Amino acid sequence: MSEIRFAFAPPAVVTVPVAGRDEAFPVRRIYCVGRNYAAHVREMGGDERAPPFFFQKPADAIVPNGAVVPYPAHTQDFQYEIELVVAIGTGGSDISVEDAPAHIFGLAVGIDLTRRDVQVAARKAGRPWEVGKSFDHSAPITSIHPLEGASLPSNGEISLRVNGETRQKGDLAEMIWHSAEIVGELSRQYRLEPGDLIYTGTPAGVGPVGPGDVIDGTVEGVDTIRITIA
Ligand code: MN
Repeated sequence: MSEIRFAFAPPAVVTVPVAGRDEAFPVRRIYCVGRNYAAHVREMGGDERAPPFFFQKPADAIVPNGAVVPYPAHTQDFQYEIELVVAIGTGGSDISVEDAPAHIFGLAVGIDLTRRDVQVAARKAGRPWEVGKSFDHSAPITSIHPLEGASLPSNGEISLRVNGETRQKGDLAEMIWHSAEIVGELSRQYRLEPGDLIYTGTPAGVGPVGPGDVIDGTVEGVDTIRITIA
């Protein structure tokens, strides 16, 4: 078999550092859960009885911890959403809640950056959320912390500060779908593969940021992410 001759250099594989190891986690897809904390569903004017759902960001939207993020074009309302991120290490379809932990490589802390005005306008017009959610530099993430047989956290504070002032504060126990249920639900819609990341939704308190703002967010027992808006 002859080697493929690319018409131009293929894009580099997007990676996230693995904490405590000299390894990188290669990213395949980024899935996100919409409306997974009731208090955030209420603040967005949604119906908290409706089940959460999924959308995607492109893999190359990843931003490393500590980075400066450019203020994106096409918005007047650029917002943060602090989220626990689940990293898939073993693929599968129709994964049961009981089997889900065995498919999880590790956990990280991410921010689902959002052009809120554009997202809301798209929602009102019955259009996809993509333009509000899936833009360049929209997926900051910490290193991935391998689970290594530990159980998934069922509680723990999830919080975010802007310039040191607390804006979001919730608990993983408030998730409508917990991490194992998310893996199960998502694996019924798409076959999961190693390298998939799942941003698991945000608690209440989302709001706008502007140039120069420093955002830091923590999931207790996982990690802290910090970004600066250019
Ligand atoms: Mn989100």
